[in-house]
Amino acid sequence: MTENTPQKKFRYLTRYKDVLLQCISCGDCREAIDISVNPPKWGVCPVKDHTPGFEPYFGRGKMQIIRSVWQEKLNLSQEMAEVFYQCPTCNACSEACAYEFDNASIYEALRAELVKEGFQLQSHAEMNRAMIQLMNPYNRDNKLKGEWLNNLEFPVKNANEEKVEVLYFVGCTAALTPEIRAVAINTAIVLNKLHVNFGVLGKEEVCCGSVAMRTGDQKAFNTVAQKNIEIFEETGIKKIITSCAGCYRTLKIDYAESLEELDIEVLHSIEFIADIIKKKETKLKDLGISTTYHDPCHTGRHIGLYEEPRELVKKISNLIEMKTIKNNAKCCGAGGGVKKAFPELSLEVAKARVQEAEDTNADYLVSICPFCFRNLQDAIDNLNSDLIMIDLMELVNKALEKND
Ligand code: SF4
Ligand code: SF4
Repeated sequence: MTENTPQKKFRYLTRYKDVLLQCISCGDCREAIDISVNPPKWGVCPVKDHTPGFEPYFGRGKMQIIRSVWQEKLNLSQEMAEVFYQCPTCNACSEACAYEFDNASIYEALRAELVKEGFQLQSHAEMNRAMIQLMNPYNRDNKLKGEWLNNLEFPVKNANEEKVEVLYFVGCTAALTPEIRAVAINTAIVLNKLHVNFGVLGKEEVCCGSVAMRTGDQKAFNTVAQKNIEIFEETGIKKIITSCAGCYRTLKIDYAESLEELDIEVLHSIEFIADIIKKKETKLKDLGISTTYHDPCHTGRHIGLYEEPRELVKKISNLIEMKTIKNNAKCCGAGGGVKKAFPELSLEVAKARVQEAEDTNADYLVSICPFCFRNLQDAIDNLNSDLIMIDLMELVNKALEKND
């Protein structure tokens, strides 16, 4: 008889088998403060204060649960799922951990085990089903993904039909959320102003699968990832840029192996244009406004894109930093499927971030992710805040105006 070892039973956790038993339960991943580091760390887990706050709601408890599951002392369950999904996988706990575990990836592996055993949250199951059937998780007709292009005064190439140097992968949130289409519109205008030979996939763009990956639905993720890889291969593209932090992390890290084989480079659109602006010495107008910058977790802690956005923000405005920034920045609370399954928690986390932004007295709250934009805007509205939420590409577009 074949022995059913944890390695065989837990196919996703197995990837992390070498670290699953190493957590020493120090608790630094809860609320450690360290002002000797730069930037200083002012607390860690953003959901701790907005949930019952005990062990499973922050890193240490999650690691204890995972260890017990791995040791087969605890069974996967719906109750476990309810707690485990109240985490935006911001990975701030990883920054606090002396062992440098990639905590969010370990939590995602546990989520994948939960989904495999039928403990997926219903709202996530519906979202991921829509993603497979309609190619977007918003349950919308994918044809609408091309609508924002009607706002442009110049034609944009269809990367499926014409050879382009750069594929602008818009992402479902900016393409399908009317209030956030400005992210896509401004990105296209800036690329056009900088004479970039780019194209989009429009209504044929397939969700990158971030929502499925983050919520542990590996089957759904693999379905869309495979479609995307085929599309990228057919277009012969060698450079993909995206204005969404979630797509960026997913394409750059979760697709890494496949895209490496196809020799495709992935960049955030801000990283891409910052380089062009620097090389061409393009002039940017100082807009005479004060701003503060929110680091999306997926561009920040997950990848380390901190300086390029700041360089641009500083060129065009007076940047006033928040108390928590860069690797120690507080999350907006939208990611990891939290906004979908626990909208109140997501809003509370976003409100705390907006209050941090308000403390700077800046006029604008700037970010480089449509999903952060959406959640922070909801918090601004809820708080009746005077802050103006804006995507950095919109500011860059305004700052380029004098060069038109
Ligand atoms: S995950 Fe790291 S920081 Fe958190 S309790 Fe374990 S060892 Fe400590
Ligand atoms: S990933 Fe973020 S929200 Fe989740 S437990 Fe870690 S610090 Fe808390």
